[in-house]
Amino acid sequence: MNETGLSEEEIRSILNDSKAQDLTYERVLSSMCTYPHKIAVEAHMQFIESNMGDFGLFRGTYDLEKKVLSALGELLHETNIVGYMTTGGTESNIQAIRSMRNIFLQQHKSQDSLLEDQNFERPNLVVPDSAHFSFDKVSDILDVELRKASLDKDLKVSVESVGSLIDQNTIGLVAIAGSTEFGQVDPIKELSDIALENNIFLHVDAAFGGFVLPFMEKSYDFDFKLPGVTSIAIDPHKMGLSTIPSGALLFRDSHQFESLRADTPYLTVSTQYTLTGTRSGAAVAATYAVMNFLGKEGYRETVSRCMELTDYLLDKLAEMDVYPLIEPVMNVIALEVPECDLVRSRLAKEFNWQVSITQNPHGLRLVIMPHVSFEMIDSFVVDLKKVLDSLE
Ligand SMILES: *Cc1c(COP(=O)(O)O)cnc(C)c1O
Repeated sequence: MNETGLSEEEIRSILNDSKAQDLTYERVLSSMCTYPHKIAVEAHMQFIESNMGDFGLFRGTYDLEKKVLSALGELLHETNIVGYMTTGGTESNIQAIRSMRNIFLQQHKSQDSLLEDQNFERPNLVVPDSAHFSFDKVSDILDVELRKASLDKDLKVSVESVGSLIDQNTIGLVAIAGSTEFGQVDPIKELSDIALENNIFLHVDAAFGGFVLPFMEKSYDFDFKLPGVTSIAIDPHKMGLSTIPSGALLFRDSHQFESLRADTPYLTVSTQYTLTGTRSGAAVAATYAVMNFLGKEGYRETVSRCMELTDYLLDKLAEMDVYPLIEPVMNVIALEVPECDLVRSRLAKEFNWQVSITQNPHGLRLVIMPHVSFEMIDSFVVDLKKVLDSLE
């Protein structure tokens, strides 16, 4: 750090230079984030100092959080939920699994002295092979064994595989409503039945799909409507058009939420359920603003435009004999393309396009977010064709 500070002008000039090096979303087809809505940005700025880690000082923001949570609960078919606004899908997933593990350990402790029990094995969690990498962090942080269930030909988790991985140390299951790589939705109704039969928790990771599926023409059973679903992660900072960091974690049962409680002796409030301490109230206000400004109608329009663009792109690609690995369910496309890694890097180097890849099966991955336009797709397709033609 400098001994004496720089002038405002100097700082602005440095920041402008840095900002100029950031990519704008105009050529980004790889991200699940997008420009936040203007009304969200405005609210974010207005509440910039608000700290939800000490919400006794910020009663107004706290009230907005409760309103956001209850609107999300209503959207996900359970008005009587508990939860909080997180920094995103990763924190929501960590906390959901932490609550499962805490309750599992409490139950074992009450039966026997846990650590002395020779038969005690590590608790395990059954996740689809397509689960987001945040579950690898979950496993590491919580010391929970991750059991990855295989996928069927449509890249949904195989219900049989999930069933075969459950044993007496399984704390719960994870289902994905909108997988990060393929945008696929697992057979959550069947997983809900399995969870109920085995009396274990079922967490639905709808970080991406939570703001897509409820607004699609076709209806999907993925939320609290299914009786076995015990918690849901949903991210306003992805398709919810809010500002970063804005995620939400919802529990059906307050008992599960209670297992996350920590005492906070020197704050205005005496308990905390969050992973982080200091927490952005700005993102809370931003989410409240955009959800109430758009309403369901506004999100329906957003999703329907993204799907229209997705179909338009698929038609253009079909004309070039390029096809998706699975029929896209939402605005995420994984393409069957030779030499994906090379194509990806050449698109970036030669044409400044950001696309990503899927691992298994290997494909070129495109996310059609609200910043994408028909013109953008037209010019992308031309450039992709140039790259593919030159491979032959
Ligand atoms: C994006 C995503 C996450 C992680 O969310 P962050 O907000 O990046 O922490 C988790 N699960 C799924 C399915 C996602 O798409």
